[in-house]
Formats: sequence, C-alpha cells, structure tokens
Amino acid sequence: MARNPEHLHALVFPYPTQGHITPMMQFAKKLASKGVIVTFLTTHHRHQQITKAHTLSAEQDDPIEQEARKLGLDIRSAQISDGLPLDNMGGELEQLLHNLNKTGPAVSCVIADTILPWSFEIAKKLGIPWISFWTQPTVLYSIYYHAHLLEDLRHSLCKGTADEGSISIDYIPGVPTLKTRDLPSFIREGDADSQYIFNVLRRSFQLSREADWVLGNSFDDLESKSVHLKPPVLQVGPLLPSSFLNSEHSKDIGVGTSIWTQYDASEWLDAKPNGSVIYVSFGSLIHATKAQLEEIAMGLKDSGEFFLWVLRPDIVSSTVSDCLPDGFLDEIKRQGLVVPWCNQLQVLSHPSVAGFITHCGWNSMLESIALGVPMIGFPFWADQFTNCKLMADEWKIGYRFNGGGQAGDKGLIVRKDISSSIRKLFSEEGTEVKKNIEGLRDSARAAVREGGSSDKNIERFVEGLKGRGI
Ligand code: UDP
Repeated sequence: MARNPEHLHALVFPYPTQGHITPMMQFAKKLASKGVIVTFLTTHHRHQQITKAHTLSAEQDDPIEQEARKLGLDIRSAQISDGLPLDNMGGELEQLLHNLNKTGPAVSCVIADTILPWSFEIAKKLGIPWISFWTQPTVLYSIYYHAHLLEDLRHSLCKGTADEGSISIDYIPGVPTLKTRDLPSFIREGDADSQYIFNVLRRSFQLSREADWVLGNSFDDLESKSVHLKPPVLQVGPLLPSSFLNSEHSKDIGVGTSIWTQYDASEWLDAKPNGSVIYVSFGSLIHATKAQLEEIAMGLKDSGEFFLWVLRPDIVSSTVSDCLPDGFLDEIKRQGLVVPWCNQLQVLSHPSVAGFITHCGWNSMLESIALGVPMIGFPFWADQFTNCKLMADEWKIGYRFNGGGQAGDKGLIVRKDISSSIRKLFSEEGTEVKKNIEGLRDSARAAVREGGSSDKNIERFVEGLKGRGI
C-alpha cells in the first residue's frame, strides 16, 4: 500500500514491562492526538495481563483500543510472541508489518524501545525510519552512549580490583560527576546477568546512533546538558496522563496499561489529614529479601507516621505475610495500609500524601516530580542508583536514607535509619526539598503544555516525519 504523508502510521513497540509500556502508551496517545495512527505492540502475555487487570472478558473489546476510542484516538493494538529478551523476533515483526501494510495505511515508522535494537534492521529493510525511544533519564542515555569511556573502570570493578564506591567519574559528556556507587549496576557488577544485560545495552547504543530520531521521557528544564549526542535526544516528557498534569487530584487515568488490578486506596487516604501519609512502593520488578522487608515494616511502624505500602505478591519468593514480622498487619491497622498494587498516580496526587519512599524507577520519579511529592530513595539495581543520585544531590528534591545503607543483595537499610529518615521528611529539611520539587513540578507541567519544550519537540518530530514524505 502506498504511503501517504496525511496518514502517518507509527508502530510503537515498548519492551514488555510495566515501566516501558506505560510511558510509551502515553507517547502513543500524544501522537494519536496529533493525528497519527498508532499501532501499539505488546506480547500476548502482557496483553492478556492488561486485559485481566481491566476485568474485561475475552469476548469484550481490546482494552487498549476501547479506551483509546473513548478518548477519540486511533490507537490499534497488536501482539507478538512472548519470550524475553525478545531478541529473535525479527521474522515475526516483519510479517506483522507486512500484514498491517495490507490491511490499513502503510506503517510509516517504527518507534521501538532503545533496548529492542533488532527492530532496527527490520525497519531499515522495509525502508522506513526507526526511532529509538529511551524510557530512563537522559543522563543514563549519555552514560550508556559513552560506555566505551568506562570500559577499563568496568573491568577493574567487575574483577574487584577497583574501589566499589568512591572513585569519581567526571569525564562523561553531559553527566554530572558521579561516584562509582552511582553507576548503573550493570556497569559495576560482573555476574552473568549483569554481563548479559550490559552486552545488550552496548549493542542497543551502537544501533541507537543510527536511529533517525532518539526520543526520551524527560524534559529540557531538567536535563538539557545530556541531549547533545548524535542524534540528539529529543525530550518529550514527562509522559503522564494530561489530567494529572492539569489538576491537583485527578481520577481520570486515560488509557489503562496497568498489568495488575489496581487497589483503590482513595477512601483510606481521604480519611487522613493533608500531608500526613508516606507512600512506599518499589515498582513492578525488584525482589527484596525477607530481612529487608522486615526492616522496612518495623521502620515504618516505628516512625509513627501514616503509611500506604505497596507490597507486590511477587516481591518475595514466599508469601507476603510470611515476610512481615509476626502480628504486624494487626498492629498497624490504624497507622498503615498494605496493598498488592494501586493506582500510583492517584495516590501521589492525593493531598494527604507527604512523601514517597521509592526504588527510584524513572517512571516513579517522574510521577513524583510532576505531582510535587518529595522522595526518599531506596535503590536496588540497574539505573536506580544513578536516578537516586540525581534526585538527592543534583536536583535536591529528596534524599537517601540516613546511615548510608544500601538495599539489594549487598546490604540492608535498617529500621532506625528508615524511621529517622521518615521523620526528617516532616522537619525543616523536608520543607526545603518540598520547595525544590514544587519548582520542578511547575517546570514539568510547563514542558508538556501546548507550546512547552516537550510539546514543541513532539510537533517537531511529527513534522519531521511528514517532511520525509512518508
Ligand atoms: N505503579 C502502579 N501501581 C503501583 C506501583 C507502581 O501503577 O502500585 C506504576 C507506577 O505508576 C510506574 C510503574 O508502575 O508508572 C513503575 O515504573 P518504574 O519505572 O517506576 O519502575 P519499574 O517497575 O520499571 O522498576
């Protein structure tokens, strides 16, 4: 089918985990609102999970298409076989593109997660642009882009011949001075998984240099220094439902991509005074030890503050209640609520929420920034250490735990440091970080408003696609 510049048709293909699907769906909505037809690609398994989470039966409409239609957007849904890390699906993707071309307006570009680099070859084979979409901070993009500068250090760190924590790294373009402990774990650690992921990232970033465009979920007022690469990173975030950026407390979540059913905590939150609740969540992926969960439980309890804690059933290998101290859930009935999963945006936008204990996943941090909620960083792995460094030391919109402990396999953050850090949030120091994050919240909202830097970057991108005559 002939390509028609009036009918731009983008295939949007996120890595199939929550932290990638959600922002790329928000981007799909932005594109669709500018008249682009979008086919949103997930795996069969994720698609079934999303369908189940939205309590639709198999006979009902696709949840993504149905919700998009309600918003008046042309977003179509497509699926590919399961199997991580999805590195052998070139044939299937090519077939899908041929099928889409037969049945609708021809696909004019592939917007793929940076970490799905094999899709590049398929787009090139079909002669359409390939756009690399990065879902972490732009600083991280620059770190991986310049990974060759870290090769020697990485070898020494992995072999244990260099200091694991305190060597200064001040030579990565567009990246503030970091200590070795602030680097992503895949660069620092030499185990087989880290080595494998590091190699995938190396390949991803080699190919990303060939991309027609690179898009990133960040905004210019936050990360302008890291964008000057080849190609430059066009920052189009924060990618959140616009209802949350326009009002303080919204119930409209737009196109839902949650992979689990979201517990509604609003009634519990409504009953709490403004600015009194600590929200605790570690995202969709990390695993924690029983010892760490016990320390968190006791730290929350000892703080004496109200708390809402998202404890995913799969965060530990045994059942959640086995991982909590005996009698904990009964003892904290008046003080806290423990839920398996919630609507994080609704929680963060609730006036009773004062602070967020977060693993520093990038979506969680952007959501906290856009809603003006100060953070206490609890990084476990991957980019979370670097994100925590940016949050605490560069942007000063939160802090790390007292005592310098580290979560994850290598350490333990203990209860007294957890309770004292929570109390700090309600002190003068907390007021300072609250002021800083409210400043950034305003910049984040300005970036996505009509005419703001991110909105203009999306316009530039769409106009650029049209200019290619595709
Ligand atoms: N999230 C949610 N409900 C929860 C906890 C988290 O919907 O109870 C969402 C959160 O809003 C965010 C995503 O899950 O958009 C987590 O992404 P992030 O990048 O923070 O962490 P990851 O899961 O990738 O580690």
